[in-house]
Amino acid sequence: MRRAVLEILEERIIHNVKEIHRFSGKRIIAVVKANAYGIGVREVSTILEGLEEVDAFAVACTQEGVELRECGIKKKILILGGILEEDVKLLEEYDLTPVISDPEHLKVLKDRNIKFHVKYDTGMGRLGFTNEIIKDPRVEGVMSHFSSPADRNFSKLQIKRFEEILKNYEKVKYIHLESSAGLIYRVPFTTHVRVGLAIYGEKPLKDYPLEVKPALRLRARLISVKELPENYPVSYGRTYITKRKTKLGVVAFGYADGLMKTLSNRSFLIFEGRKVPIIGNITMDMTMVDLSGTEARTGDWVYIVNEERSFTPLARDAGTIPYEIMCNLSRRVERLVIKKR
Ligand SMILES: *Cc1c(COP(=O)(O)O)cnc(C)c1O
Repeated sequence: MRRAVLEILEERIIHNVKEIHRFSGKRIIAVVKANAYGIGVREVSTILEGLEEVDAFAVACTQEGVELRECGIKKKILILGGILEEDVKLLEEYDLTPVISDPEHLKVLKDRNIKFHVKYDTGMGRLGFTNEIIKDPRVEGVMSHFSSPADRNFSKLQIKRFEEILKNYEKVKYIHLESSAGLIYRVPFTTHVRVGLAIYGEKPLKDYPLEVKPALRLRARLISVKELPENYPVSYGRTYITKRKTKLGVVAFGYADGLMKTLSNRSFLIFEGRKVPIIGNITMDMTMVDLSGTEARTGDWVYIVNEERSFTPLARDAGTIPYEIMCNLSRRVERLVIKKR
């Protein structure tokens, strides 16, 4: 039985890439770490590999870089999350480009003919050198990362610090700073943008000036539909009691699939364009919804996310960010690329 499907709308992904390129005027380093934010790295990177606007990919670690190569990716692959001695062999074998953000990373590359990018911490307080300048002919790129792209003043400070650092580097091929939200600053001296979320169709800020379109649909099967009487408990812990005779739907999608338990009694799924409330506790494999007033039958599909309701509003209901929900979509969810007609 097909119980849950994540549909990846190819045409929308392509539209979003072109929109990011149009808005920024720069080519894109597509961030596909963590299985392309849980969407499916093979499916996503295969679409992106064919697009002129995408110059390179970025992942978190060497293993993810190897996986991308094994998906047939030929473009440049950046390893964002640091390297240690045990990575060197794979970097060479799979032609991966590390980002250096700690003196120990650099030691690992001693006497190796491996190009790399250098990362600066201009206010993120995570990875990156704060002021050390790396004089090395192998430096191919210099990057930094915004900590709070919604904060104009702080982001402008980061831009300024980064610009100062760059005075020490000449002729680097890749200068990159802007992530999805950071795109709004249209930093004049960067050569590339380094974007994930916006490619996948989620807007990272309200009043986002880019016309990115939702590119994902997530649907799951109704594995049972039945009538419950008034005053009847639903699911573990009896956190919901029916107020009237209720048409109960059991959806084959639970917290093991990525729908977090905090959404119990707090949000809704969608059946034929109608909101159907989640009732009772979400369980590992199943979620209950109130289908009263619909014609829903066992075997029908309900949507968790679609073009009208993306991961961002769902995340808001859960008190989190869309990244976290997407990354937690389990491998039990089938990935299906909907091809451009
Ligand atoms: C994940 C990540 C990005 C992409 O961020 P989005 O908000 O998804 O565009 C860019 N740069 C770094 C360093 C990252 O870790």
